[in-house]
Amino acid sequence: MSSVAAGKHVVVIGGGFAGLQAAKALARTGADVTLIDRNNYHLFQPLSYQVATGALAPSEIAIPLRHVFRRRKRVRVLLGEVGGFELGRRELAVTDPGSGEQVTLTYDQLIVAGGSDYSYFGHEDWRSVALEVKSLDSALEVRGRILHAFEAAELRPDEQEAWLTFLVVGGGPTGVEMAGQIAELARETLAGEYRAIDSRRGRVLLVETADKVLSAFPNPLPERAATSLEQLGVTLMLNQTVVEVDRDCVTIEDRRGAQTQVPTRTVVWAAGVTASPLARQLAEASGASVDRAGRLTVEPDLSLPGHPEVVALGDMVSVRDPDSDRLITYPGLAPVAMQQGRYAGKMVAARLTGAAAPPPFRYRDKGMLATIGRDRAVAQVWRLHFSGRIAWVAWLLVHIYYLIGFENRIVVMLRWADSYVTRGRGSRLITEAADLPSKDRSAV
Ligand SMILES: Cc1cc2nc3c(=O)[nH]c(=O)nc-3n(C[C@H](O)[C@H](O)[C@H](O)COP(=O)(O)OP(=O)(O)OC[C@H]3O[C@@H](n4cnc5c(N)ncnc54)[C@H](O)[C@@H]3O)c2cc1C
Repeated sequence: MSSVAAGKHVVVIGGGFAGLQAAKALARTGADVTLIDRNNYHLFQPLSYQVATGALAPSEIAIPLRHVFRRRKRVRVLLGEVGGFELGRRELAVTDPGSGEQVTLTYDQLIVAGGSDYSYFGHEDWRSVALEVKSLDSALEVRGRILHAFEAAELRPDEQEAWLTFLVVGGGPTGVEMAGQIAELARETLAGEYRAIDSRRGRVLLVETADKVLSAFPNPLPERAATSLEQLGVTLMLNQTVVEVDRDCVTIEDRRGAQTQVPTRTVVWAAGVTASPLARQLAEASGASVDRAGRLTVEPDLSLPGHPEVVALGDMVSVRDPDSDRLITYPGLAPVAMQQGRYAGKMVAARLTGAAAPPPFRYRDKGMLATIGRDRAVAQVWRLHFSGRIAWVAWLLVHIYYLIGFENRIVVMLRWADSYVTRGRGSRLITEAADLPSKDRSAV
């Protein structure tokens, strides 16, 4: 690739799947790149539920961004929370998460990849009770709460029904993975370790508004996933919606409006996402539109309407179809973000060198995978569908391949091999990071 115009500075916001690929593609061109993230690491989100269930440790699915770019002298990594764009002056505000102080940065080209957050459908008060596993911190909190629930039941066996009921909200891949893992934890890993209770009697409920789990997958994979979950002991509550979340109880409503109250002290939220607030900030600064999930509408080449020097991508955008005026909402998947990241890097590099711009972005869909438990997974690869052990092995290989960092790949492979043989989990400590229910539930 030809070398870039001297003195041009590209700022990339977000070191997730999209931002990391964009920064890597640009780094190869010799451009001056500043990569900003509010965390000092890249997180492999598809495995955060394994941290939440004690199968993996945090450092095994995350890698410091500074380490990723240690050999790229023209890439500067900054830890900071971005908020506020002055598009006319090509400036943005960055806040130091430690001191709260704000600095202003300038750019020639800007790439924004802030991802998404879980949406609680307007019930923000549920957030502290029904935890999600999107960030490393929340995954550790979930781990603490799940493990603590078994401890609390051992201490107060008369209250074990509520402590040993685990309710997962949302039957997409994350909900299915979480439910399967909690069931395995209760039935296999912890079996025989308690004296007053039997961990195998723990109930795992998976609540889903639709009439099936994994509804984005083609038939017959949702049915096969449901069968696998039931074999693991998960109770599926389909066609049901969570309408109230309290510290000791969740209320569920069926399609006819009949309500059921489920006493539980551990709720995991895996339903609905909303785009990063950066999408709305960019829309306000530029006059662009956002959709109902807060995703910013970008042009077919991922640029911000009216601002070709700004590119937005990944979970936080919908893309205008180059052949019509329709909007394309790609699935919120890592491969979409990675392909968009590589595309954005290439396009910005072409602009800096004066080379021809690449054609509009097109997603190459290679398929989807979801795992339910040991030897149980479903996979759709092009037109092929498969499930069971073969899908599970495919899932393992794909995740090892895409994990960032050689050391992480080796350690995770060893961990999984050990778990497969012993049915154990190597990361079962309840630490201070686990914000246990008594600490924050008073707020609800
Ligand atoms: C629990 C879970 C499981 C998943 N499992 C799968 C799976 O199995 N397969 C799959 O393909 N996809 C999966 N996904 C989806 C996939 O992880 C996302 O589609 C992908 O991460 C999107 O990439 P992104 O770069 O847009 O956002 P992210 O990867 O979320 O990256 C956004 C980055 O921006 C940073 N950031 C955000 N706001 C700011 C700010 N204001 N200032 C500074 N930095 C900021 C964040 O810290 C983060 O590093 C899963 C997601 C979750 C949450």
